Amino acid sequence: MFEGLQEKLSKAFKTLSGKGKITEKNIKEAIKMVKLSLLEADVNYKVVKEFIAEVTEKATGEEVLKSLTPDQMFIKILRDELIRVMGEKSQLSLVHSPSYIMMVGLQGSGKTTSAAKLANLLKKKGKKTFLVAADTYRPAAIDQLITLGKKIDVPVFYGDRKDPVKIVREAIKEVKDSGYNVVIFDTAGRLHVDDEMMNELEEIKDILNPDEILMVVDAMAGQDAVNSAKIFNERLDVTGYVVTKMDGDARGGVILSIRYITNKPIKFIGVGEKIEDLEEFHPERIASRILGLGDVLSLIEKAEQELDKDKMQKLGKKMLNAEFTLEDFQEQLKEIKKLGSLSKIVEMLPGSPKVDINQSEKELKVIEAIINSMTPEERRNPKILNASRKKRIAKGSGTSVQEVNKLLKNYEEMKKMMKIFKKGKLPFNLKGFKI
Ligand code: GDP
Repeated sequence: MFEGLQEKLSKAFKTLSGKGKITEKNIKEAIKMVKLSLLEADVNYKVVKEFIAEVTEKATGEEVLKSLTPDQMFIKILRDELIRVMGEKSQLSLVHSPSYIMMVGLQGSGKTTSAAKLANLLKKKGKKTFLVAADTYRPAAIDQLITLGKKIDVPVFYGDRKDPVKIVREAIKEVKDSGYNVVIFDTAGRLHVDDEMMNELEEIKDILNPDEILMVVDAMAGQDAVNSAKIFNERLDVTGYVVTKMDGDARGGVILSIRYITNKPIKFIGVGEKIEDLEEFHPERIASRILGLGDVLSLIEKAEQELDKDKMQKLGKKMLNAEFTLEDFQEQLKEIKKLGSLSKIVEMLPGSPKVDINQSEKELKVIEAIINSMTPEERRNPKILNASRKKRIAKGSGTSVQEVNKLLKNYEEMKKMMKIFKKGKLPFNLKGFKI
């Protein structure tokens, strides 16, 4: 997320590091670099203009805090300004029962996927959720929603599959007095904004009087997405946006421009193709990510949602007692994979530690394949692994006996280390060890 922008902005901070204080001269160069970074990230020029004016005023004004160094101060000013252009966090406003949410947007933006992701998120929050497939325009959109609905165990209504307005009217009858809290309507998009689509959406809006009209926009589409966001808002008075494909190499233009241009909030971001890959939009966390300060809060939240706490606690205890077997390790790997790919996890850490993600992912896959090829008994007691067993495991996991030996050696070393920890004797001096 935002690699290019992050890298360029960090060069701007560096011009100030080591400087005694912010002066008009040294800040000028840094601000120029920020301006270029934003323009290259495809941020709307009006937003850039105001952003730079505000940052210049704050950086050269009297607000500079004595406790911070010039580069830290500059980061703080940029962070505040990024948050300001993205607006405050805005939540769904679900007032009716059932509440209707209408999903709108152009074809390919990720509308159908986001409808199902949102249903999943709300279901996890305890809402009884229902989906309506009224995208009759894109072939396969209805079947796609039916499949996704099955996956998350949310019913999907699709009527005659032909007339969207009729489907919507029938769906309303279907959910009446049914106890559903939220009904999400997937509507038809087009490749470009056109009148037929807008008329259809206006008609559906009039029928539903929905609590939320969420427009789905593709972060990769840059200023085109911002322009269509503006047109949709003018016609439909949307209540918010879902910005998808933030996991791709989106440059930041959409996320930093849309609020300023439309005056409507981003409510969610799509961060991957999987059904769990939808996050509530937190401007301050995104600002931190853009500035390379990480997003530990989102990582913790994800861990709380996805991980089995009892299991992790038990595994942690076993580790401390040096009773950690390869079977436990297998369990732990399974749990951690629920948080997403390694690269996604590392991205949320401050300073995005420079590790070779591809290499680490590969190594983890090898470890997992080896452990999966063992019998439960071997995992619990690796001591029984003789040459022929190792050969069998290497063959089964598509690895080599050397790789099996390497894993066993690492495991033994880890156990030794845990024993030393337990005795309270640290094997190395932790002084100066930074967390
Ligand atoms: P629709 O025409 O707007 O209904 O688009 P779809 O929901 O079918 O999405 C189009 C494509 O974008 C599909 O391949 C989705 O898997 C993909 N997609 C949607 N949201 C995201 C996202 O947040 N990240 C990524 N990487 N892909 C997404």
